[in-house]
Amino acid sequence: GATRELLLSRIRDVPDYPKPGVMFKDITPLLADPAAFTALTETLAELCVRQGATKVVGLEARGFILAAPVAVRAGVGFIPVRKAGKLPGATLSQAYELEYGTAEIEVHAEDLGADDRVMVIDDVLATGGTAQASLELIRRAGAEVAGVAILMELAFLGGRARLEPALRGAPLESL
Ligand code: 5GP
Repeated sequence: GATRELLLSRIRDVPDYPKPGVMFKDITPLLADPAAFTALTETLAELCVRQGATKVVGLEARGFILAAPVAVRAGVGFIPVRKAGKLPGATLSQAYELEYGTAEIEVHAEDLGADDRVMVIDDVLATGGTAQASLELIRRAGAEVAGVAILMELAFLGGRARLEPALRGAPLESL
């Protein structure tokens, strides 16, 4: 619809970034356009409300920018999932495979619990590794996964298929 076209028109393709052969999807034009950023925030917040989310998890770093206003709009808490070593309190950690090597993400253990239904928000789903690891963290914290909502899915990288088993029937919505 109209929102999809508006959002698409505000995403910039940057060739050979961060390395040769990669076409990077740059969302900064969207963030700079209040009509587009508002439309994105409201669409994601409606999704959170529809899924009965009690918390919104944002994935560092661009996921923070999207998830924070969504949490405020939906009237639920914002929980950061960060790269290892950045959170000061007691954390749960999850390692996952990258193309070369591994990465690790963390959440404050006390931020999620058995009463929570958690919506994960990020800008781009590429291989799905980051989102998959975040679902592991949420379940290990004892919480339920309400869904994963992303602005854009790079379908040719197969992230949806990789994420599917970890979703256990929860929706993966890409706008
Ligand atoms: P994945 O773990 O699915 O392979 O990678 C997804 C993560 O990498 C997301 O947190 C996302 O922000 C980042 N990412 C990968 N490719 C792109 C891209 O083309 N544009 C943007 N904005 N982020 C990307």
